[in-house]
Amino acid sequence: MAVSAQHLDEAIAWRRDFHRYPELGYQEHRTAERVAALLHAWGIEVARGVAGTGVIGTLRNGTGPTVGLRADMDALPVSERGDTPWASTRPGVMHACGHDGHTAILLATARILSQTREFCGTLHFIFQPAEENLGGARKMVEEGLFTRFPMDAIYALHNWPGIPLGHIALNSGAMMASLDAFEITLTGKSCHAAMPENGADPIVAAAQLIMALQTIPARRLAPTASAVVSVTQINGGEAINVIPEKVVLKGTLRCLQSDVREQVIALIESFTQTQPPMLGVEGTLRWQSGYPVTVNHPEMACKVQAAAIAANTPVQWGVIPSMASEDFACMLQHCAGAYFWIGADGEMPSKPLHNAGYDFNDRLIEPAVNFWLALVRECCPR
Ligand SMILES: [Zn+2]
Ligand SMILES: [Zn+2]
Repeated sequence: MAVSAQHLDEAIAWRRDFHRYPELGYQEHRTAERVAALLHAWGIEVARGVAGTGVIGTLRNGTGPTVGLRADMDALPVSERGDTPWASTRPGVMHACGHDGHTAILLATARILSQTREFCGTLHFIFQPAEENLGGARKMVEEGLFTRFPMDAIYALHNWPGIPLGHIALNSGAMMASLDAFEITLTGKSCHAAMPENGADPIVAAAQLIMALQTIPARRLAPTASAVVSVTQINGGEAINVIPEKVVLKGTLRCLQSDVREQVIALIESFTQTQPPMLGVEGTLRWQSGYPVTVNHPEMACKVQAAAIAANTPVQWGVIPSMASEDFACMLQHCAGAYFWIGADGEMPSKPLHNAGYDFNDRLIEPAVNFWLALVRECCPR
């Protein structure tokens, strides 16, 4: 059971087609339509409309475990710099994270398994919308992913620049950080820049608060805890001789342990309430609901490792987690499973994810499909 040249050519064609017509989160109408039509043509049961554009294909073959394999379908609001024949035709939108590749890989896997049926159990091929910051995984869970389609385990892969082509990399715990976005509004009192005694200066309050936030990882957390607080936007002021009324700060918090995440959230809230009033300024804080830490379940991470060993695929075990985040974390909170990286570097190193010059490495399709097949053999043996 392996990928034939014909399967591979088709998968590359799908990948390049998705790349030409990228769609942002929850707008993957064309992609979802193609995915559903292909699954249907291969005799796979199709459910649509889970989290808007989500598609789930179900393939049954006798009695055995029920396993979910997830691919993400959305693109990013990035203007592509590449000039390949399959470059994005949609200005300002591109597949800069390789979700075009993930979708094509899972489609090819579904197609092969629908023909060979070399497994015992039930497989759910989950095509998720809106992975990039829009919470598509959480929405799928809320709309009954695991109640309508109960699963014993769920897995997801992500192509990963910096790792040799087709090598698997994972660990048995945290793989990706949590992500929370915050917005702090500092409201003071506007006045003439020459007469600060008549106002309350939100610019100085902002400067003080930004520096104070940096002391959270440095002075309030144990050195073994992992958290990064980054203020990434600061907006306020119009005239050079006027102290403004308002400053708005925006930023992100990323952590590798959920208890640390809670601790830092509480500290940012406390700093926002207590520091600005020392300058007569009021601070209010708004959180945008984020992604939890992506934590692998040890038993399922071991299955991935075992599948790699059985398929003679090199596996890096115990990798250092990334401080980037992954929506699949929400699925892992409700179902046992594992998330792993698959190396994307060929003869040339891959461009970084989210870069305008990035393009999914088509040479990865073959080893990635073969790896999904190996994992299915491991989880649902005949
Ligand atoms: Zn991404
Ligand atoms: Zn991604």
